[in-house]
Amino acid sequence: MKYRSTRRKSPETLIGAAIKQGLAPDGGLYVPCEWPALSKLAADGLPFAEFATGVLRPFFASDSLADAVADPLAAGLEAICKQAFNFPLELRALDAGTSVLELFHGPTLAFKDFGARFLALCLNRIATSSPLVMVATSGDTGGAVASAFATCSQIPVVILFPEGGISQRQEKQLTVWGEQVRAYAVQGTFDDCQRIVKEAFLSAEWRARFDLVSANSINIARLLPQMAYFAWASLKHFENRGRSAGFIIPTGNAGNAVGALWARHLGFPIREVVLAHNANRTVPDYFNTGDWRPRASIATLANAMDVGNPSNFERVLDLYPDIKRLQEFVSAESVSDEEIKQRIITEHSTSGEVFCPHSATALHLRRRRGAEDWIVVSTAHPSKFEAIIEPLLRKSLPVPASLEEMLSRKSQKTVIIPHLEALKEHLFR
Ligand SMILES: *Cc1c(COP(=O)(O)O)cnc(C)c1O
Repeated sequence: MKYRSTRRKSPETLIGAAIKQGLAPDGGLYVPCEWPALSKLAADGLPFAEFATGVLRPFFASDSLADAVADPLAAGLEAICKQAFNFPLELRALDAGTSVLELFHGPTLAFKDFGARFLALCLNRIATSSPLVMVATSGDTGGAVASAFATCSQIPVVILFPEGGISQRQEKQLTVWGEQVRAYAVQGTFDDCQRIVKEAFLSAEWRARFDLVSANSINIARLLPQMAYFAWASLKHFENRGRSAGFIIPTGNAGNAVGALWARHLGFPIREVVLAHNANRTVPDYFNTGDWRPRASIATLANAMDVGNPSNFERVLDLYPDIKRLQEFVSAESVSDEEIKQRIITEHSTSGEVFCPHSATALHLRRRRGAEDWIVVSTAHPSKFEAIIEPLLRKSLPVPASLEEMLSRKSQKTVIIPHLEALKEHLFR
């Protein structure tokens, strides 16, 4: 399998190089060149790690012996999946027409553990002499990346987050990992953090010093496992019910959206896909008007989805350049903060279930639909968002043991002014 850039102006490359580069040289995103037939796979009774190995095998396969030598990932794929996906994922019936795909049983209680752990384990096998993972985070990404690299790899990680801009629990998840994972609290916004990371990647001085790797969801290694869990859930539903389900996905940077569309493109039984957005309306507006107009992000209760310029949408448009084809089975809607709050309260009072604000956007859209089968994707554990949920439900939420343990550890961060030079002072020693 080879990978090409969405902008088609970079050479085709092997998976290992695509992972190390993150972004293609022409500024595009890597996508697979081919779509293998995978229809003979079964999901039931198979641990997810084993199923994922089967789905991902052709995406890591080498076309020649020279490729296999250049890129040793294929040989390690089974072991990588087994170690990366060592926590459960659950497809749980909520009511007659609704199931919930719970993706938050990993170490940092959000779906990003799947991609971050997979990326860390891939890099272990292909990393060069002086690798440095850099990531800017507005919350969940940094936690998943920090935990993944600290527990699965020796590769050093630098995390930038806006000082005072993330929740206490989120900050804890970034700052308890010691020397290997350094957390920098930037006196600025998330956009400043992202700008600094971009400047480092573009700087000849930095590139001479480090082999910089992006752990953002533009990295193909984060997306491929996400495709695998959509395949797994769709097949499991079909095997149980004899009907294909639609997915409703809480969407921000559209990594999960790409995973679902790729799984459907491979032939897995996905009837349709609904993208649930918060008040950041770039994608819903595109579906209404056909105009792609990225804009500044708006802060909402579902903060991991506060994205005004969803970078992965370039991969959606690459697969479906014609909006009419896309609209045949994909739609996108925006959910307001008020609707998110009401949904959390209503679901709790009718069923006793507690949903995080992101999962609640998706559930809100499910309640507007008919009797067909729907799988609502649940992206984070509610206890990560206790500051929003507890006042709404007027009760305290139990803290899962893994989070409790993390909260008890000593944290360490360095505050810096929002300039690349400030970071350089700490890292060029
Ligand atoms: C990152 C995140 C999202 C958004 O996912 P994308 O793949 O970027 O669309 C949704 N919910 C939670 C909890 C997240 O952490």
